[in-house]
Amino acid sequence: MAVLLRTLLRPGRPPGVLGRSLGRREASLGSGSGAAVRVRFAPSPTGFLHLGGLRTALYNYLFAKKHGGSFILRLEDTDQTRLVPGAADNIEDMLEWAGIPPDESPHRGGPRGPYLQSQRLELYAQATEALLKTGAAYPCFCSAQRLELLKKEALRSHQTPRYDNRCRNLSQKQVAEKLAKDPRPAIRFRLQEEAPAFEDLVYGWNRHEVASVEGDPVILKSDGFPTYHLACVVDDHHMGISHVLRGSEWLVSTSKHLLLYQALGLPPPHFAHLPLLLNRDGSKLSKRQGDIFLESFAAAGFLPDALLDIITNCGSGFAENQMGRTLPELIAQFDLTRITCHSALLDLEKLPEFNRLHLRRLVSDETQRRQLVGKLQLLVEEAFGSQLPDRAVLDPANVERILLLRQGHICRLQDLVSPAHSFLWTHPAVGRTQLDAISEQVDVIAKRVLRLLEGPGTSLSQDVLNAELKKLPEGLPGTKYSHVMKLLRVALSGQPQGPPVAEMMVSLGPKEVRERIQKVLSS
Ligand code: GLU
Repeated sequence: MAVLLRTLLRPGRPPGVLGRSLGRREASLGSGSGAAVRVRFAPSPTGFLHLGGLRTALYNYLFAKKHGGSFILRLEDTDQTRLVPGAADNIEDMLEWAGIPPDESPHRGGPRGPYLQSQRLELYAQATEALLKTGAAYPCFCSAQRLELLKKEALRSHQTPRYDNRCRNLSQKQVAEKLAKDPRPAIRFRLQEEAPAFEDLVYGWNRHEVASVEGDPVILKSDGFPTYHLACVVDDHHMGISHVLRGSEWLVSTSKHLLLYQALGLPPPHFAHLPLLLNRDGSKLSKRQGDIFLESFAAAGFLPDALLDIITNCGSGFAENQMGRTLPELIAQFDLTRITCHSALLDLEKLPEFNRLHLRRLVSDETQRRQLVGKLQLLVEEAFGSQLPDRAVLDPANVERILLLRQGHICRLQDLVSPAHSFLWTHPAVGRTQLDAISEQVDVIAKRVLRLLEGPGTSLSQDVLNAELKKLPEGLPGTKYSHVMKLLRVALSGQPQGPPVAEMMVSLGPKEVRERIQKVLSS
């Protein structure tokens, strides 16, 4: 601040002399432009990572990886009053969980760090000083009360509140006098008329005449912290960002950023604004909905690949939409020129189906399957714990067999510990009267099943069993195959519905089936 004050007391040059004409710039997609692609995801740690944030991060990641570039995580924590404890760590942890880790970040570090804006205050002070020197910025001594009053008056007359640029033309003498009373004024950026036009890689040519709709914005607050616009421009420059891919809500701010680049004499990056991610009905995907936070999806057993797949499937950026794409496929097929201005409509009801596909893919890979078996063991332990009649059900071979049999029928591993699947792990409570109500031949059928299990060739493959089960009603007048199946399903699982009986028997294994059937006979 001391240097800033000295700058304030020195006569300034007329504003804008350092300004570089932006001219018309060819849109560059990185490849072939020679310069390394460096992109960043720059969330404010004012909340945990949600689906909208994940999508912005993912598009940055895909673009970086497609062009052999770097993906940077920068946390914009300059508004210290809005920080949410744990959010900074959560954002980075969730990017790791999602399989799109940054190359440079607060946790990982990197050559252009630090990656937390609160640790880069010196850079913003230097930039502010440069702007003060040229007169592109000026100190503002307006009190909070005055600013509040301006706002109230504007609202009362149904106008958009804006600063009236009162401190814009203070003389050197006035500044010196005011500084004596208020040595830590906020610094405002002098908005030039005629904002530069720019070619957004998604939205095409744009220009927002900021000066005609806004007052001069504060770029450095009296506490020495910058506001978003200055910090973003300074960091994108110092971090060597080649392309800014961010939500379309920032499109209107880009002209302001370009004015800042111009005033600082810095070359701007390329810009690509991403259309909004909305609910299927077009409503806002609210951050306040607890269930759009990545943590909730992870806890509910959704796979990162399923989330990446669904959020790219509902938007543009690919030649075609197709379910089941993996991250390497997304990188290979991503094409920034295919992003359109249309909002992406997300239908979360389809997520279980996406998850089913990806779960199935993981089960087919031996290494991944081993990990899933470990996770399922933990889930069973957690869900049934002391109710487990026999620890043998947790045997990896048993758990793997169940997983292999049920894949394709389940959307999440958690489904395997749902009430419908509890018979796989615990003994069902079945009363004899329940069985007698289904068939008059309970004992006969039970004995036949036991014999079937004792006989040769009972390897308990589903095909063999299916053929044998068909024969069970033979010679029992009035007993239909469907009755027998219902009876066995209830005897084995305690439930009227569930997987096919042959599959149930294979899942449980011959020993367990025998025990459950014997229990029927002795009841
Ligand atoms: N901190 C801003 C946000 O949270 C970043 C905007 C940008 O990417 O420039 O949306």
